[in-house]
Amino acid sequence: MSQLNLAGVGMTSERTRVRLVNRLREQGVSNNRVLDCIRETPRHLFLDEALAHRAYEDSALPIGYGQTLSQPYIVARMTEILMASAVSLDRVLEVGTGSGYQTSILAQLAGEVYSVERIKPLQDKARTRLRNLGLRNVHLHHADGGFGWPEKGPFTAILSTAAPREVPRDLLTQLAPGGALVIPVGDEVQQLTLIIRDDENDRFITQKLEPVKFVPLLSGTTR
Ligand code: SAH
Repeated sequence: MSQLNLAGVGMTSERTRVRLVNRLREQGVSNNRVLDCIRETPRHLFLDEALAHRAYEDSALPIGYGQTLSQPYIVARMTEILMASAVSLDRVLEVGTGSGYQTSILAQLAGEVYSVERIKPLQDKARTRLRNLGLRNVHLHHADGGFGWPEKGPFTAILSTAAPREVPRDLLTQLAPGGALVIPVGDEVQQLTLIIRDDENDRFITQKLEPVKFVPLLSGTTR
């Protein structure tokens, strides 16, 4: 059963969404809880009306301000990696709220979600959408997420949907013991990277997962 408030939401046909989920499964996404969320979440609500008809294609789509809503495959993949790697999803930090779509998927699987966005108008739109869907465990913050959200940390899991050249130190220090960070790293060539805080051995374990293409992590904020 979906925990989303879908009253008055014009959904595209069940068939379209099932087809998307089947495609993700073929591409190797296997976590059923993640796939259920993708099937039940109205991605078209996170896009401007002119693009809404493309919401269930497996592609990244523009959301204004030079930013993009990530491709469903990458949203699903990052979420399932986080679930498999982090000690829990009790307290999740997301860097780059954007449209709020990835936030909405995390919110259905996590305890509390803290999401930081540097572009204020994007954050405002995301806030309205997430509220309309009835997701009450989401906390949004207008700030440079390269510094994490120190007042709310430590986090059991951190996910960044924007790519820095190097992993920001503050994100590492805000990881709880056993916590996991999933983040695209690089410039022209980016690698999806998983970092786990292994406290027993007092170290971070880093794994490069697959090549990806994200918008850059930028510093500062815009109104
Ligand atoms: N998760 C989003 C993806 C949006 S693209 C979605 O599902 O729609 C990445 C987002 O990261 C953009 O909105 C961009 O403005 C934001 N971003 C880039 N650098 C940032 C920073 N330093 N702090 C916070 N957000 C940042």
